[in-house]
Amino acid sequence: MEIKKAQEIVDETIKQYGGYWEPLSMLARLTEEVGELARAMNIKFGGKKSKFVGDGKEIKEEISDVLYTLLALANKLEVKLDEEFVKKVNESHEKYKEVYSK
Ligand SMILES: [Mg+2]
Repeated sequence: MEIKKAQEIVDETIKQYGGYWEPLSMLARLTEEVGELARAMNIKFGGKKSKFVGDGKEIKEEISDVLYTLLALANKLEVKLDEEFVKKVNESHEKYKEVYSK
Protein backbone atom coordinates (compact mmCIF):
# COMPACT_ATOMS: atom_id res chain seq x y z
CA MET A 1 0.00 0.00 0.00
CA GLU A 2 1.26 3.45 -0.86
CA ILE A 3 1.73 6.00 1.90
CA LYS A 4 -0.75 8.38 0.26
CA LYS A 5 -3.41 5.68 0.26
CA ALA A 6 -2.69 4.84 3.88
CA GLN A 7 -3.13 8.50 4.83
CA GLU A 8 -6.46 8.57 2.97
CA ILE A 9 -7.71 5.47 4.78
CA VAL A 10 -6.71 6.88 8.15
CA ASP A 11 -8.42 10.16 7.26
CA GLU A 12 -11.67 8.43 6.29
CA THR A 13 -11.64 6.36 9.47
CA ILE A 14 -10.97 9.28 11.79
CA LYS A 15 -13.64 11.47 10.17
CA GLN A 16 -16.10 8.59 10.44
CA TYR A 17 -15.50 8.26 14.18
CA GLY A 18 -15.54 11.78 15.54
CA GLY A 19 -12.75 13.66 13.80
CA TYR A 20 -9.23 14.66 14.62
CA TRP A 21 -7.93 15.71 18.01
CA GLU A 22 -5.88 18.83 18.44
CA PRO A 23 -2.24 18.44 17.36
CA LEU A 24 -0.70 18.31 20.82
CA SER A 25 -3.21 15.68 21.94
CA MET A 26 -2.31 13.67 18.87
CA LEU A 27 1.38 14.03 19.68
CA ALA A 28 0.66 12.79 23.20
CA ARG A 29 -1.18 9.80 21.73
CA LEU A 30 1.76 9.06 19.43
CA THR A 31 4.06 9.20 22.42
CA GLU A 32 1.78 6.77 24.26
CA GLU A 33 1.97 4.36 21.34
CA VAL A 34 5.76 4.63 21.19
CA GLY A 35 5.77 3.85 24.92
CA GLU A 36 3.63 0.76 24.30
CA LEU A 37 6.10 -0.35 21.64
CA ALA A 38 8.96 0.20 24.09
CA ARG A 39 7.14 -1.87 26.70
CA ALA A 40 6.51 -4.73 24.26
CA MET A 41 10.15 -4.69 23.18
CA ASN A 42 11.38 -4.53 26.76
CA ILE A 43 9.28 -7.59 27.60
CA LYS A 44 10.60 -9.46 24.56
CA PHE A 45 14.23 -8.31 24.47
CA GLY A 46 14.90 -6.54 27.74
CA GLY A 47 14.60 -7.19 31.41
CA LYS A 48 10.93 -6.37 31.90
CA LYS A 49 8.74 -9.20 33.12
CA SER A 50 5.23 -9.61 31.78
CA LYS A 51 2.78 -8.97 34.61
CA PHE A 52 -0.13 -10.95 33.26
CA VAL A 53 -1.05 -13.18 30.34
CA GLY A 54 -1.33 -11.06 27.22
CA ASP A 55 0.60 -8.17 28.78
CA GLY A 56 2.12 -6.14 26.00
CA LYS A 57 0.74 -6.60 22.52
CA GLU A 58 2.81 -8.09 19.79
CA ILE A 59 5.62 -5.81 18.63
CA LYS A 60 4.26 -5.81 15.10
CA GLU A 61 0.89 -4.59 16.40
CA GLU A 62 2.54 -1.81 18.40
CA ILE A 63 4.58 -0.72 15.38
CA SER A 64 1.34 -0.58 13.41
CA ASP A 65 -0.25 1.52 16.18
CA VAL A 66 2.68 3.95 15.95
CA LEU A 67 2.36 4.16 12.17
CA TYR A 68 -1.40 4.72 12.28
CA THR A 69 -1.06 7.48 14.84
CA LEU A 70 1.81 9.08 12.90
CA LEU A 71 -0.25 9.02 9.70
CA ALA A 72 -3.12 10.67 11.58
CA LEU A 73 -0.82 13.39 12.89
CA ALA A 74 0.54 13.99 9.39
CA ASN A 75 -3.01 14.33 8.11
CA LYS A 76 -3.90 16.81 10.81
CA LEU A 77 -0.85 18.91 9.94
CA GLU A 78 -1.46 18.52 6.19
CA VAL A 79 1.88 16.80 5.62
CA LYS A 80 2.09 14.67 2.49
CA LEU A 81 4.27 11.88 3.82
CA ASP A 82 4.92 10.26 0.45
CA GLU A 83 6.63 13.45 -0.75
CA GLU A 84 8.42 14.08 2.55
CA PHE A 85 9.65 10.50 2.73
CA VAL A 86 11.23 10.70 -0.71
CA LYS A 87 12.97 13.92 0.32
CA LYS A 88 14.23 12.24 3.48
CA VAL A 89 15.55 9.20 1.64
CA ASN A 90 17.36 11.41 -0.85
CA GLU A 91 18.81 13.56 1.93
CA SER A 92 19.99 10.49 3.80
CA HIS A 93 21.57 9.07 0.68
CA GLU A 94 23.49 12.30 0.05
CA LYS A 95 24.48 12.59 3.68
CA TYR A 96 25.78 9.07 4.13
CA LYS A 97 27.16 8.11 0.75
CA GLU A 98 30.41 9.91 1.46
CA VAL A 99 30.73 8.42 4.93
CA TYR A 100 30.05 4.83 3.96
CA SER A 101 31.76 4.77 0.58
CA LYS A 102 35.20 5.16 2.14
MG1 LIG B 1 -0.49 0.41 21.06
